[in-house]
Amino acid sequence: MALSLSLVLIAASVVVIGAVAGDDSNGDTGPSAASDPTETPTVRPAPAEPPPPAPVDTFDRAAHSLDDPMSIWVVVNKLRPLTPQDFEPPDLVDVPVEHTNEPLLRQEASDAVVSMFQAAFDEAGLELASNSAYRSYSAQENVYDGDDLTTARPGFSEHQTGLTIDIGPLSGECSLDPCLAELPEGIWLRDNAWRFGFILRYPADKTPVTGYSFEPWHFRYVGVPLATEMHETGVVTLEEFFGLPAAPDYG
Ligand SMILES: [Zn+2]
Repeated sequence: MALSLSLVLIAASVVVIGAVAGDDSNGDTGPSAASDPTETPTVRPAPAEPPPPAPVDTFDRAAHSLDDPMSIWVVVNKLRPLTPQDFEPPDLVDVPVEHTNEPLLRQEASDAVVSMFQAAFDEAGLELASNSAYRSYSAQENVYDGDDLTTARPGFSEHQTGLTIDIGPLSGECSLDPCLAELPEGIWLRDNAWRFGFILRYPADKTPVTGYSFEPWHFRYVGVPLATEMHETGVVTLEEFFGLPAAPDYG
């Protein structure tokens, strides 16, 4: 019993000592570890943002030949004649659209023209016509008028690929004339031809590259993937897109 009492007294003493110590601690207005104003708060570096993915150019610029006259990407200009020069596509078909001259094109390009003319009518009420499409080497001999800025020499004409068409309003207004660019038909074609795989091959400000003056009527079929890529990148000539030499003149 005596031992138990002693333990109780010892315990009570510890409590008193603790209370005194606690009072002392409470009266202390000095700095404490918990509220040290000189301590710099720890700033953890924000987790690094993952860098935005670099735009990956997934477009395969080697998907088709630029030289083979049967390739939908063949580049024909004053430095790049068709090979052979009297090349004639084997898959020419009649293009079932309104026209001034009976148009022939390669099947794929013909189908695209039909879709494009239909869309021009459905979306904008515009009626288009073909003014010229495939022209053979011998036909080009008759077309070439000696002016290298406006007509191609035989063997150097994009029309000989069977992938190119000159388009105008069915009314005939501004046919094969730069004023087509101001008409609704010319504006619609300029803005929408890419959706059907065509490019405006001879833009107004690219004569030093293409070798030809502005032809708002002349559209070249290159397929939807390339036409879309050129539309999205804003690179408007085949020469610039593929890094080929400018072709202002015959070599
Ligand atoms: Zn043309």
